[in-house]
Amino acid sequence: MEGFNNPYIDKLIGISNEQKELAQKWHEYIITNIETMGGKKIEGFEIEKTEKDVALIEFTQMALNRILEQYKRTKQINIPLVNIHVLPPEGTERYTNGRLLYGAHSSLQQSVLIDRDVSDIQFSLALFHELLHIKSYTAFQIISENKDNQSGQQLKPYRNGFRIVSRDGKRVYLQSIEEAVISYLTASFYESIKDELLFRDEKLNNRGIIISRSYEVSMMNDAIDIIYENNKGTFLNRQEVLKLFIDAQINGNLLKLGKLIEQTFGSGTLKKIDASTIS
Ligand SMILES: [Zn+2]
Repeated sequence: MEGFNNPYIDKLIGISNEQKELAQKWHEYIITNIETMGGKKIEGFEIEKTEKDVALIEFTQMALNRILEQYKRTKQINIPLVNIHVLPPEGTERYTNGRLLYGAHSSLQQSVLIDRDVSDIQFSLALFHELLHIKSYTAFQIISENKDNQSGQQLKPYRNGFRIVSRDGKRVYLQSIEEAVISYLTASFYESIKDELLFRDEKLNNRGIIISRSYEVSMMNDAIDIIYENNKGTFLNRQEVLKLFIDAQINGNLLKLGKLIEQTFGSGTLKKIDASTIS
């Protein structure tokens, strides 16, 4: 909705331009929900942040902001400190009943869960990954069961970078490419911070550093190679194709890359890339 500056999302769809008051109410609800529910302590799981944790969170969020700026993100979404929930090691796994490891995020609440790994670097990388999900291009949608009145209206995510939720809220597309771009950028972040003074007392646990989603990253790299090989007249180098993937994730610009993917791999490809039903 134009005309309402919501600090947490780029766009709200599903309300017509004539329904300004209704749009305003939804925006107010979104902000309140993020600032109250998103910041609410997770009893039984969350631990107090130490001074070091806060320093690492600030360092990571600032570094991420600079990277987003570098890729021309026009909206900087600042996540309140209370929306970053620190859990003991394996806390995410316990909290999500084994569904997720190390970290998780909620788009609608703009909040993250992060395990406090013994490694400061691992903690920062997990934080970087989850924060990038919610600081990338974000759109929400209002889904109305009944088009004629406001009953049964529901707020759902619509876009998180690459990730698209269908307009009936039941299907999700392109999630693995979202993970691939985020993991690629997390690995570059690691290269840029590993020699920082902040990490001089770094203690590693016996797993070493883990940057998740290597399968998705290798799939993306293969796709980039093929697109580049097929479009050498359009791109000077492979890096230019990679930049389109990063731009689609960070700024939501899917049009140009979407066309290229469809031309290269066949029409209808985008709708087939790991489309799944939301349970
Ligand atoms: Zn992720």
